[in-house]
Amino acid sequence: MAKEDIFKNLIAHCKEYGFIFQSSEIYDGLGAVYDYGQNGVELKNNIKKYWWDSMILLHENVVGLDSAIFMHPKTWKASGHLDAFNDPLIDNKDSKKRYRADMLIEEYLEKLEGKISKEVNKAAKKFGDSFDEKMFRETNPRVKANQEKIDVLTKRFADAMNNTNLEDLKQIILDYEIACPVSGTRNWTDVRQFNLMFATEMGSTADGATKIYLRPETAQGIFVNYINVQKTGRMKLPFGIAQIGKAFRNEIVARQFIFRMREFEQMEMQYFIKPGTEEEWFDHWKKIRMKWHRALDLGKDNYRFHDHDKLAHYAAAATDIEFRFPFGFREVEGIHSRTNFDLGQHQEFSGKKLQYFDPETNKSFVPYVVETSLGLDRIFLQIISAAYCEEEVKKDDGSVDSRVVFKLPPVLAPVKLAVLPLVKKDGLPEISRKIMDDLKFEFNCRYEEKDSIGRRYRRQDAIGTPFCITVDHQTKEDNTVTIRYRDSMKQERVKIEKLREIMVDKVDMSRFLRKLATGSDAKD
Ligand code: ATP
Repeated sequence: MAKEDIFKNLIAHCKEYGFIFQSSEIYDGLGAVYDYGQNGVELKNNIKKYWWDSMILLHENVVGLDSAIFMHPKTWKASGHLDAFNDPLIDNKDSKKRYRADMLIEEYLEKLEGKISKEVNKAAKKFGDSFDEKMFRETNPRVKANQEKIDVLTKRFADAMNNTNLEDLKQIILDYEIACPVSGTRNWTDVRQFNLMFATEMGSTADGATKIYLRPETAQGIFVNYINVQKTGRMKLPFGIAQIGKAFRNEIVARQFIFRMREFEQMEMQYFIKPGTEEEWFDHWKKIRMKWHRALDLGKDNYRFHDHDKLAHYAAAATDIEFRFPFGFREVEGIHSRTNFDLGQHQEFSGKKLQYFDPETNKSFVPYVVETSLGLDRIFLQIISAAYCEEEVKKDDGSVDSRVVFKLPPVLAPVKLAVLPLVKKDGLPEISRKIMDDLKFEFNCRYEEKDSIGRRYRRQDAIGTPFCITVDHQTKEDNTVTIRYRDSMKQERVKIEKLREIMVDKVDMSRFLRKLATGSDAKD
């Protein structure tokens, strides 16, 4: 099945099984705003816990914060968001559709990359083991021509973005004959800047009201609390402040489900360091964050770093961790070396000292910052798109059946264990309830007695429950149950008292974190 069709099926699946609903659906929905249903919220909370515990429990010098969404309006002047948090927009006059000019160009570059990959794959198949990819890329005329085109365009595009040269952005679109995907025409308006912040008013009277903004990132809440946390926590450099919270951006084009939303959640950590150590810490956090992602085991070839060609004016270095979504490699997390720009700006605009006194040198300075910034909804999408499988299953009688299974990392699964009495009588429900009552304090368990066992298994597969146990008549005799594993569908009989041990090994967060910390299961 084509990747686009699978992605459509995934979206439908998320609705059908209570993971994600369109916001205000009964009123025909609100663009790029989504609600998380009964299973979605569990998965989301588990992802948050994985991130939070890995930051706070595994790093003695990282502490948490929960700052308000509303902030003093001067915050956004100081941070540069009021003046520069813009995206370049362009309209197609025929389709009346609006696009981000930079994205049109990026998609064009991706198409050229796609052409090269096609040639390379074709040749790899043809030449088999003797294929030398490097040599092929350097000598094949079609590949060389496309690579040259990419290099020239990438440089021109980066220059136009860095210099906010809107005329040249438009000219690139015209020169490379980039057409509107809807109308197919090249009848474009000029490129204009569009500020992504949502504004509202605070205060009861029209005269006295102040214009304020919904925060477009959580980071600024951390910066303005730097001195509070540093002083009250007696923190020594280097130290970090981590926060999970909502952010809002009036995105021009919101597409690809929860990939780009107007209301979303971020998990950010700002690491305050001594000037001069930024390179070392940038590399350090790149490694830590990639290891965290890879521990989820969503396919070793699905990750890559992408260094920014266009650096924000304050940034010393920036890289994205990208994941291979069904629609290509895309950013999930940004790691940015931000110098002392943010604290410096807030110090200037507030008139308050935001410095650190170093007892070793007896000097005060504004700390530098390396940040890690992960989109919670984006990693949610990454996990479900890697986990979604439509499989053919051979039945005992030789016929073929199909199943949809969410192969979620067990530690993140919304429901860890389903307890299923074979029949609704003969004392089996009572034994099942007793098992639930023993395990429910540690694991999210679900009890189901309706429908055949096969159908109940399928429902649990569809929400990603890693373990189903069936209580049958033999249970009454020898205290054993059947445990069925989601991915392999294998079944085995185990003693009831063994269940907890089996569960802990696979789904316990602290055990998972221990593996992450010791590196025994996480690949660098
Ligand atoms: P993009 O280039 O995709 O717009 P960005 O570079 O502006 O993203 P950052 O400002 O670095 O993103 O935000 C950090 C993280 O927040 C991103 O890596 C992403 O995971 C998440 N994020 C940003 N914008 C959105 C959005 N509109 N919807 C969902 N997640 C988002």
